[in-house]
Amino acid sequence: MSELHKFLFEGLPVRGMLVRLTDGWREVLARRAASGEAFPAPVRALLGEMAAAGVLMQGNIQFAGALVLQMYGDGPVKLAVAEVRSDLAFRVTAKVVGAVADDARLEAMLNVHGQGRCAITLDPQDKRPGQQPYQGVVALHGDHREPLQQLGEVLEHYMLQSEQLDTRLILAADDQVAAGLLIQRLPVQGGANLQGARRNEDLIGLDEAYKRIALLAGTLTRAELLTLDADTILRRLFWEEPIRRFAPLRGEDGEGGPRFVCSCSRERVGNMLKGLGRAEIDGIVTEQGRVEIGCDFCGATYHFDPVDVGELFTPAERQAPGSDAKH
Ligand SMILES: [Zn+2]
Repeated sequence: MSELHKFLFEGLPVRGMLVRLTDGWREVLARRAASGEAFPAPVRALLGEMAAAGVLMQGNIQFAGALVLQMYGDGPVKLAVAEVRSDLAFRVTAKVVGAVADDARLEAMLNVHGQGRCAITLDPQDKRPGQQPYQGVVALHGDHREPLQQLGEVLEHYMLQSEQLDTRLILAADDQVAAGLLIQRLPVQGGANLQGARRNEDLIGLDEAYKRIALLAGTLTRAELLTLDADTILRRLFWEEPIRRFAPLRGEDGEGGPRFVCSCSRERVGNMLKGLGRAEIDGIVTEQGRVEIGCDFCGATYHFDPVDVGELFTPAERQAPGSDAKH
């Protein structure tokens, strides 16, 4: 079962989270395989890491809306997307054009010409009219223009640049598990008055605590992250630290934990078709007999035959006499 574990270090300005996506992650891959368009292995691993990272980031900020992680590439992977809603429901997809080598890393997939980008969008649930979603963008290279090969490093840069938060992020995914460990330095309360409020050595000690814990987190191998359960990982890494854990959120059994859910629907597809305009849709119907739209996230297919298309473009008052729309 997929789970998200939150914890903090007692008395230290450090918090952490550990996520393991299992059932939901396997379902994503199974659906894609069933469509006959399975992603290459390195893309599957990237999407798994993105799903894990998305859940960690959403779990971290508890944003009332969708957190969307997008990688725009200039290599064979044109786009990779992970979306995580506030209830930790996640979905992922990618657009791959061209061959991806079995050992391809971030640069070979997305950043061949140095133009790759990672965008994090926060799309609020209840938008005010005209309100734009918040978006932050980071390049896929480090401070010295060296190309980054790990998604975790890219997102560490993002957190530091956009939120001024020191973060250590370790991610890994295979076809069974997508997992991640996040360690983050919390802003010390009191900000500007710190010098007066605390003795210098206390401050240095708090600073050292984050560094020590981040270093410990960095010793976690990908294999350990993928194969060990949360209890074992946290005990092995932090057995000397004053760790305090919260009840894990488990998905797939209704405890509000991470799980795969696709938010596509016939209504949404219909609205999208309406947006394209009647002439465009009639053109497709004339050519192909009906409109067929597949969901890239879950593999669902929606068909609209000429009658459906006619209804789609019928004004609402004629379609539903006596409905609420006519008050
Ligand atoms: Zn869908």
